This record gives sequence, C-alpha cells and structure tokens, in this order.
Amino acid sequence: MPIARSSLLAAVLTLVAACARQSVPPLAASPNAPAAPDAPADAAGRAPTLSSAAASAASAQSGAPRAAPPVLLKVGRLIDGVSATPKDNQAVLVVDGRIRTIGAAAALEKDAPAGTKVIDLGGSTALPGLIDAHTHVLLQGDITAAEYDVQLLKESIPYRAIRATVAARTALMNGFTAIRDLETEGAMYADVDVKMAIERGVIPGPRMFVSTRAFAPTGMYPLSGYSWELKMPEGVQVADGADALRKAVREQVKYGADWIKFYADRRYYLPPERGCKHLLCSWVNFTDEEAKAIVDEAHRLGKRVAAHAIGWDGIDAALRAGADTIEHGDGLDEGLMDRMVQKKVYWCPTIYVGAYVAEGRGGVWPKMVELEREAFRKAVKKGVLIAYGTDAGGYAWTENQAKELGIMVRYGMSPMAAIQSATVVAAQLLDQRRDLGSIEAGRFADIVAVAGDPLKDIGELERVTFVMKGGVVYKNENGAK
Ligand SMILES: [Zn+2]
Repeated sequence: MPIARSSLLAAVLTLVAACARQSVPPLAASPNAPAAPDAPADAAGRAPTLSSAAASAASAQSGAPRAAPPVLLKVGRLIDGVSATPKDNQAVLVVDGRIRTIGAAAALEKDAPAGTKVIDLGGSTALPGLIDAHTHVLLQGDITAAEYDVQLLKESIPYRAIRATVAARTALMNGFTAIRDLETEGAMYADVDVKMAIERGVIPGPRMFVSTRAFAPTGMYPLSGYSWELKMPEGVQVADGADALRKAVREQVKYGADWIKFYADRRYYLPPERGCKHLLCSWVNFTDEEAKAIVDEAHRLGKRVAAHAIGWDGIDAALRAGADTIEHGDGLDEGLMDRMVQKKVYWCPTIYVGAYVAEGRGGVWPKMVELEREAFRKAVKKGVLIAYGTDAGGYAWTENQAKELGIMVRYGMSPMAAIQSATVVAAQLLDQRRDLGSIEAGRFADIVAVAGDPLKDIGELERVTFVMKGGVVYKNENGAK
C-alpha cells in the first residue's frame, strides 16, 4: 500500500529527530571524504592505543567536535610519489586532513601557524600512503578449494565481516591507506558495511573502494562439486544473459559498488593441450555480448570494471569487452600487452599470491608463476600501466601485503617505480589522483614512513613505522623527538 505523502514526511522527520538524538555522524559519500579523526595520536604523536581507539570510536558515535590542530611532519627524506628522486630534510604541513605545504623543514617550521603540532620522524623516509588495488578483506586465505568452501559454508557473513574489520586494520597498520577490495566472495555487500564503518570512524581502516559481489555465469565459480540436491552458497553473483547482467550491475551499484568486477575466465591450461597456441590458455566464462553488457552498463553508471583474466583467451575477451583493469594476467603476451598500452588498461599482477598458492594447488599453477615472471619483465619494458595489487585475503592477512613490492623489484622494476605503482599509478587506476597517490599540496594527508631507505632496500616497506590517514596518526613507532 502506498504511503501517503504526509505520513512519509512525518516518518522522515521522525528519523531526522532520532538521528539528532543519537548524533549519528553523517555517512561520507565516498572514500574521498576526509577521514574522521577517529584515533588521534597523543600529544607526542604516538600510535593510538586500543583504549584510545575505543574512546575515539565512542567519540565518533557521540559526534563530538573533532577539530584537530595543524600538524607539521618533519622527515629525513621525502619520496613524494611523482618526483624522480627523494628530497632530504623536508617537512609537510597538514591542515584539516589535507597537505597544505611541503618544503625545507627549517623554513616550514618557522612559518607554521600558531598551535601547530610538530611530529618529528627524525631520519625516517616518508612516502605517500600505499594503495593496494586488489584485496579481499572478507577472505582469509584460500590456497585450496576446501579452505575456500569452509569459509562460505561454516562461517556466517557477520563472522566474516568481523574478521574483515581486523583485515582492514591490518592493511592500514601495514601502511596501506587505500584499497580496492575486489569482491566479497559470497559475503554479499558486507564490504560496503566495512567501508561505512571506517568512514564513520567506528573502526580504523584504509579508504575503501569496493566491488561487492562480482559476476560469473551459472556453474563457472565455486562453490561447485556438491550434490544437486543441495542449494549451496555462491562465491559471486551468478547472472546469465546481457539483460540479466545489466540489471545485476544496476543492483550492485544501487547497494554501494564503486567498481564492477567479473570473472572473464577459468580452467587454465598450457600448450599444446586442446590446441592451445599461446603461453597459457583458458576457458572464457561470458559470451562477448554478456561481457560487453557488463562493461557498458557499468560505464554508463560511471563505474570502472575489473576483469579477473589469467589465460590468453580470458585476457583477450576482457580487452574486447572494454575492461579497465586486468587482474592476475599470468598469460599476458606481447600482443596483449600492446593492446593494454594502447587502450590504457591497467594490470594488477598479484604475483605473491600466485607463488603462495602454487604449491598447494599444484597442476598448472607453479608454471603460471614462471610465466608471470616473464610477463612482468616484458610489461615493465613495454610501459604497461602496472598498478600494485596483491590479492591479500587470497592469502592469509598475517602475511604483510607489502611483500609484493620486493618481488616486483626482483622481477626487474626499479624500487622507485615499484613505489609509484603502489601510490600514484594505483591512484590513477582508482581515478582518484585529485586526492590520492602523492605528497603534493591539496592531496589528502595520507602519509607513511619507514626507518631506512626503501630505494636501497624495498623490504623497508614491510616495516612501516608511521601511518597517517587524512591527517590522523594511526601508528607512530618513532616516539617523541
Ligand atoms: Zn582476487
């Protein structure tokens, strides 16, 4: 029965009044909104303790005023994400969660506004907050199919969401101030809820760009292999046919998807099996009409599209459909790379997860690790847009997701290019360069630091000692100096 206009208005007014009573902070429209200063550092700039985090969560719920003084961050070395070389003895002035000025520490300190809090990181190297463009906070490692199935069959979505909050905090404490979370693996729209909790300051975590449920056609994604008498949970949103897929894209966007993801392929195999004439072949999931419908509808709604594509056939199909990013891409050859360069399609290689699961999965997987190493070397030379993406969650969150950086350097990328892949390039992929990816005036104050020089030892980035997001310090192991 339709609600009469007057009673609808009354209901809205009641809701507004209820919100006012509870002082619920407004929901930020996107991860671009300045982070709520939910866990302010203490006067010495030390990391918030659990109790201060709890108190700040309470403060977030009470909606108390949270104006923070300007902060002057002094560092020994600054990698800003865009310059070719670092600068020594720099300072960054942060006002209202954004970077106001960058310059020589001595000069900036002299001109700092009254009441500015100084955080001196000594000889540390500061760099833009890291961005991981491929994560799964709702997943806790799935080397084998059995491990994946257990999470969907024996863990409720609320339980998985609780674990996701821990994964989100882990990512932030590892120095990742933004992530693109590429599907919930059966946990419906719980990524939207985790993102909301972070934006409201209920829990600490990175800025999240979420893709909700992802797509595969009937029978082409786990869970599979169970009796037909059982109605099993699905790891994706199953949809067939162009019209159904368009409707499903609209539905995901309606419920909060920032990105749309689809699984372009499965069942990877090597030549000469089944007449394979490429480095690695695969079975394509969607018809061209279906894949194009997904991409077209997403683009029509202003969303970008990520395609899981591992074999030649899947990558080819994803590129034909107009996908914006290729995930994994182990079977990339030079022809596909040229098409990616030409169409400015990004590649998220997720190398570490491949090596991590290869042994447990066996079969073609160890060979795929080798193929990806070669593909990576060639892609660096060809200038493919390589954005940092780890697939964290595909392996346990206890593994530091910054390990991928070391592998990229070992595979032929310079340390500076690897850092840029995880900062400025990933921010471009997210279409967020106005706010993210570099330490430049006007950007969000998303800044991390390490004790040593990551250009000499990229492994330093696995030991982040300082994390600031939106001007709020979440971690500082440097103490007062
Ligand atoms: Zn993934």
